[in-house]
Amino acid sequence: MQMATWHEKAAALKPDGRAFIGGERVWAKSEQQFENLSPIDGRKLGMVARCDSVDVDIAVAAARAAFEDGRWSGKSPAQRKRVLIKFADLMQNYGQELALLETLDMGKPIKYSQAVDVGGAANCIRWYGEAIDKIYDEIAPTPANSLALITREPVGVVAAIVPWNYPMLMASWKIAPALAAGNSVVLKPSEKSPLTALRLAEIALEAGVPPGVFNVLPGYGAEAGAALALHMDVDCIGFTGSTRVGKQIMQMAGQSNLKRAWTELGGKSANIVCADCPDLDAAVEAAIGSIFFNQGESCNAPSRLFVEASIKDRFIEKALAKVPDYAPGDPLDSNTVMGAIVDATQLKTVMGYIESGHVDGARLLAGGKQVRTETGGYYVEPTVFDQVNSSMTIAREEIFGPVLSVLSFTDVQDAVRQANDTPYGLHAAVWTADLSKAIQTSRALRAGTVHVNQYDGDDITVPFGGYKQSGNGRDKSLHAFDKYTELKTTWIQVG
Ligand code: NAD
Repeated sequence: MQMATWHEKAAALKPDGRAFIGGERVWAKSEQQFENLSPIDGRKLGMVARCDSVDVDIAVAAARAAFEDGRWSGKSPAQRKRVLIKFADLMQNYGQELALLETLDMGKPIKYSQAVDVGGAANCIRWYGEAIDKIYDEIAPTPANSLALITREPVGVVAAIVPWNYPMLMASWKIAPALAAGNSVVLKPSEKSPLTALRLAEIALEAGVPPGVFNVLPGYGAEAGAALALHMDVDCIGFTGSTRVGKQIMQMAGQSNLKRAWTELGGKSANIVCADCPDLDAAVEAAIGSIFFNQGESCNAPSRLFVEASIKDRFIEKALAKVPDYAPGDPLDSNTVMGAIVDATQLKTVMGYIESGHVDGARLLAGGKQVRTETGGYYVEPTVFDQVNSSMTIAREEIFGPVLSVLSFTDVQDAVRQANDTPYGLHAAVWTADLSKAIQTSRALRAGTVHVNQYDGDDITVPFGGYKQSGNGRDKSLHAFDKYTELKTTWIQVG
């Protein structure tokens, strides 16, 4: 029997756009809905609940009730572990459906939706599930007549607001540590990509996460998102998105109940290739592959490439030979490596930045145009600008599209100075065969992650987050538990 193609599977899919509150699928109380269109070809995927502050009140009350009665928070870590591991297993069982929803919703290639998004999100849920019954509390070194316990408790009701570029992965980086620690969660996915988050909530329920513990509210940022950030009964907000909205989240937390606010924000990451780079081909592959991966819609994309002047021409020649490999294609074709831009607004933003590169005097070496297909959708050529300097808009602002700016430097101090000349501080990289130079440079770079002689080294065991206006706090690793737990001191008199 012949297997159905991704296109046939996509045609058969009927996504459910209702919210998920208290273990049930529901429409917004207002009955308002919005249309969900695929960036692949503009096809209508369905209608989605447009939740607002009324639905936020209901979901937060459900989450609070669940937290207070201990149906999840009162379970032992080992019990929560078993449920989360089942949740991860089920995600993999439903992997094809989840991957398809992700690709249709936000346009990334199906092969990455499967390997990176489903694989990474399931691994994240499993990892925090496995971790939670292996963490011990502390006893402080107090005088002999006392015993002081330092324990971690769940913070309570956690709101998670996430973007559209890795919808499932960003959701899992929040919900996995939050749920493992015993919190209740209200998740708001981006209005541009709500489908996988909603399906995750159903799968969590099937795995045994009790009703009310994990709720999902689709809707607009200014409505559902702001209502969560301002809510007086939300204890903590985990936000991933733009720096502009991150600042508003901090303000809303401050003007309401001073909920703990954690932000993972934008980036303009610098990739520094020194003349003594130990493997130029690997550096070229990483420079090109990492900026065009996910259509350039990655917070940590190395969008500023700094190449030491003496090797720049050779490096660019090699890089340009790789660019055609990243021509955008049908995201439902398993061979495609670059898919569709998420929507018409983002397409316009990216094309506006390309125009600004021309106006500021950068030299276009590759791409630069929108790709029009017979089936519609939003596609942009992989684009490379040379002769960029640090004052140009394309070198200063986050483009969030497949656009690489090439700059040069004279020595590594010059590279570090230019690399740090940005309000962002998410990722950076340095390529050099000189160990001392690598260590000194990585210390000098103001970024949450510095790569040395690679760019894609990353897994769930290491923290992910930014310096400066790239945010605060860290997702991933055991450090993420810091965001979703309170430290309690219990001082006991002995004798
Ligand atoms: P965005 O800030 O526009 O939206 C993010 C989320 O916030 C969405 O769910 C949106 O609906 C919501 N939102 C918007 N306005 C709001 C408001 N006033 N109140 C509350 N919520 C509101 O960002 P985006 O365009 O969805 O995502 C792209 C950004 O995310 C980029 O800047 C990217 O660098 C960043 N990002 C950062 C990381 C990281 O880990 N640092 C990871 C992925 C993406």
